[in-house]
Amino acid sequence: MPWRYARSRTVYRQANDSKGDVLADSWKRALVLSPHTDDGELGCGATLVRLAAAGCHVRYIAFSIANRSLPEGFPPDTLAREAREATAVLGVKDVVLHDFDVRTFPQHRQEILELLVKESKEFKPDVVFQPSPSDMHQDHQTVAREGLRAFKRTTMLGYLLPWNTSGFSDDCYITFGESELEKKVEAVGKYRSQAHRSYADPDYIRSLAKVHGVTVGRPYAEVFKVARLVLDPPTD
Ligand SMILES: [Zn+2]
Repeated sequence: MPWRYARSRTVYRQANDSKGDVLADSWKRALVLSPHTDDGELGCGATLVRLAAAGCHVRYIAFSIANRSLPEGFPPDTLAREAREATAVLGVKDVVLHDFDVRTFPQHRQEILELLVKESKEFKPDVVFQPSPSDMHQDHQTVAREGLRAFKRTTMLGYLLPWNTSGFSDDCYITFGESELEKKVEAVGKYRSQAHRSYADPDYIRSLAKVHGVTVGRPYAEVFKVARLVLDPPTD
């Protein structure tokens, strides 16, 4: 029978056993690439809660603190402060914030690649979460493309931001429960300067997680495009 990749799905269940988590057993170091602050929280916030709670070292890198996206009246350090508050809610302690101007990432492609190559050599992540290749935002595309160049031997999962994406392939489901979902909602809510965005609406975040969960018969899930999957044998 021919291999039918398009019909296959990977589902990472949350472990019921409080001693461990199937994700964190495989992934000791996870890197999240968030082109702008809040992309990582929206794309994979509940997954990060699971990983961090289970002892995985999660590093979150945002490439723009997007001052140009701030509504009038907010001080220029608003998004940096909100990003620190949001990641703290997720349990992520290792946060790196760069400051490339929004919508100019294609012009800084090489600089971004060099930052990522350095992360690949020094942090050595077991998994990288980044925007999916079908994300249409130019800054997201740049990070996704340079991520694939920099991490050639690493599991790479592209998260879904539906309002920016066309033709997403839902290869991988990471499931979670109510408490992880509510942490994600709370983290996104820390971006008070972005509360006017329709995708920051708690009902939308909960509904999307429910839609993806129901697809695989679980309460909630986040979905990912698998760009590369590396499965190592256990080390213990
Ligand atoms: Zn973005």
